[in-house]
Amino acid sequence: MNKRFSGSFTQQSDLPEASHRAAERVLRTAALHRYQSDEGQLSETALLEQAFAAWQGSAFCIALASGGQAIQLALRAVGVTAGDPVLTNAFTLAPVPGAIWAVGGKPVLVEITKDLVIDLDDLWAKIASSGAKVLLLSHMRGHLPDLTEITKIASAAGVTVVEDCAHTMGATWRGQKSGNFGAFGCFSTQTYKHMNSGEGGLLTTDDPALAAKAMIMSGSYMNYTRHGTVPDPEHFADAIYDCPNMSARMDNLRAAVLRPQLAQLDDAVIGWTRRAEIILRSLGQLSPDVHIPMPLDGAFRVGSSIQFSLPGRTPARCQAVVRDLAARGVEVKWFGHVEPHGFTSQHRHWRYVQAQALPQTDDILRSLFDMRVPLRFGEDDCRLIAEILCEVLQAHATTGEAA
Ligand SMILES: *Cc1c(COP(=O)(O)O)cnc(C)c1O
Repeated sequence: MNKRFSGSFTQQSDLPEASHRAAERVLRTAALHRYQSDEGQLSETALLEQAFAAWQGSAFCIALASGGQAIQLALRAVGVTAGDPVLTNAFTLAPVPGAIWAVGGKPVLVEITKDLVIDLDDLWAKIASSGAKVLLLSHMRGHLPDLTEITKIASAAGVTVVEDCAHTMGATWRGQKSGNFGAFGCFSTQTYKHMNSGEGGLLTTDDPALAAKAMIMSGSYMNYTRHGTVPDPEHFADAIYDCPNMSARMDNLRAAVLRPQLAQLDDAVIGWTRRAEIILRSLGQLSPDVHIPMPLDGAFRVGSSIQFSLPGRTPARCQAVVRDLAARGVEVKWFGHVEPHGFTSQHRHWRYVQAQALPQTDDILRSLFDMRVPLRFGEDDCRLIAEILCEVLQAHATTGEAA
């Protein structure tokens, strides 16, 4: 009898007891709005901003309604306006081109490498050909590019970098947290990210002028002094007149649920990474038949998901792999679908974006698979998943493909 895994790939960890208590406290006061707090008192949302800025090592944090809103406000604050080209990796999630589109920008898609990070040669080429002044760098599925090199390229070319850290909360490049390399770090606290408030976003920056703009745009109704991290007054002098209110605030209930999770985040990061390592170590034995995108030297990746590819396999073969794994309780997603499919949508599906030739990225996505690694899984669960993955992938390797 083939072994079968019976855990759920979409069930989140329980929320800390302290989240339940904090949420209850907020509910009893009915003070759900972030600017509802007694004079001189910081609201749950403001306290979350302080705590997240301290954890992230950034001067400022602004709590928002979603990760997508964090990206939009960041792009607006760095000056993207209608018609501007904005560079981004071709391999990312739909809210990324969506955010560029929402601010009137034109996504310029940059190729990725087989390690799923932005291709620096293509980045140079596209900076030159598009004249773009902003790079929205999406650390898709937790894979960090050479951020030292990108910082150099960006400053040489006069390009402002905004980091999409939806999958890299807790990841580091040469010991420094992702999100601290560009003008802004954009984080999501949507249920399937590293902290869970259903929906939510956190925007970080060290630049007081940018922080002031984003705070006004987030919809502060001039309550900006009640935020958790507040730039000096001079930075608001023009911002209060120049920046429109775009109502993207977080509320106290979500912040209350998040604060206790932040206290556990470092442990969660270790937990995910240990689980992913167990699975990837087994899969590594199937190399070169199975390719595993590797973190670059200097990158610490959080293992909340794993990726692998089966180079050269046909779409029918890839779908058979997904089906056979599902039959044994292991849920993987495939990025090669012709139609948009869950979170695996890709650039060909974004018809609002001008069609662009990305042969290298297409070739990678055609045989790329993705698996979530929930913290609920124990290490034994991970060993069983690894065993099933290896058996199924081996079965599909030996049958081979007509070249
Ligand atoms: C989830 C996600 C976002 C946006 O986050 P939301 O909070 O869902 O708006 C942005 N980028 C990537 C790569 C994501 O996975």
